[in-house]
Amino acid sequence: MRTVGAAAQQAAKPVEGAVRIGANECWTGPFPVAAEAAFKLVTEGNRYEPDNEHEKLFAAVAQVEGIPADRIVAWPGSSDPLSRVAVAFASPTKGIVTADPTYEAIWRTGAWLGAKVTKVPLTKDNAHDVKAMLAADPNAGVYYICSPNNPTGTITPIGDIEWLAANKPKDSVLVVDEAYIHWTDTPRAAKLAATRDDVLVLRTFSKLFGMAGMRLGLTFAAPSLMEKMMRYDGGQVTAMLPMTAVACGTVSVAQADLIKARQAEMAANRDKAIAHLTKKGIKVLPGSMANMFMVDWGKPAKDMQAALLTQKVQIGRNWPIWPNVSRISVGSASEMDAFCKAVDAVWKA
Ligand code: PLP
Repeated sequence: MRTVGAAAQQAAKPVEGAVRIGANECWTGPFPVAAEAAFKLVTEGNRYEPDNEHEKLFAAVAQVEGIPADRIVAWPGSSDPLSRVAVAFASPTKGIVTADPTYEAIWRTGAWLGAKVTKVPLTKDNAHDVKAMLAADPNAGVYYICSPNNPTGTITPIGDIEWLAANKPKDSVLVVDEAYIHWTDTPRAAKLAATRDDVLVLRTFSKLFGMAGMRLGLTFAAPSLMEKMMRYDGGQVTAMLPMTAVACGTVSVAQADLIKARQAEMAANRDKAIAHLTKKGIKVLPGSMANMFMVDWGKPAKDMQAALLTQKVQIGRNWPIWPNVSRISVGSASEMDAFCKAVDAVWKA
């Protein structure tokens, strides 16, 4: 049995013939104009870097985000830098503070490090409770905020994120994981990483940009912070990215109109499915701004997940803190219709 990467693979593993709304992927691939740029790079695949692809990506991102290009680094997804920031700044004497429920990759890294991982429940609005997070471990090495949060899709107000940046210990790092930020127009934390040397913002192309299998992510952070995360390989992993993904990402970030259209399509599909469930008396947690929402079935989520799979619909998992609540990722209009029909077929109040 393979154990390396097994947890991540499990969530996205295809079930033959099933509608796949379990892993927060996009229902479609890259924007066609971006895919074209990637295909062009396939034909130049003999070169490690045919034509300054990294610089073009950094320039495009700097333009859109208003962050200096020397504070942008590209990675094969955002999982790797997420582990690295924990390895660089947490230890058996410096803990990690997160919300609960939240994306738990950093919990696993913390466990491996022997670092204390403190999980603080979300507020009643499902935002991160930044004051409680600081109070829970005032001397931590890493404070992790996921906004919009996976699995709730809810955002933490930028004012709260700024408060934590201003009040946390100086030698700790505030990590703001914005994997899902492209689905909303909410204010970004990027500007904090543009001006402070102790804030790291994570981005990924795996979500709205439809590039999960192509592997591209970004960090926004001070070069001094990055150096600490690259101590053991001198940044080799960032220097040797698939150029197809880099070129695809460069074109993707500049497509303001297409991004807006994809946001609107997702929101319409999400809200229609939520309305269907609500009409049946099924409780949906409010406030998601992203391509996922949470359903409280009032009975074990694992059973509903299995029941829906008999209808060939693969929904997401639950988090231990909320055993009756499933995460549903938003798919295409027809995928969400299939989900609603499957619920109709198996639901008994
Ligand atoms: N951060 C969050 C909040 C996620 O939900 C995910 C994946 O689902 C990741 C990071 C890692 O994604 P990737 O490595 O594809 O960028």
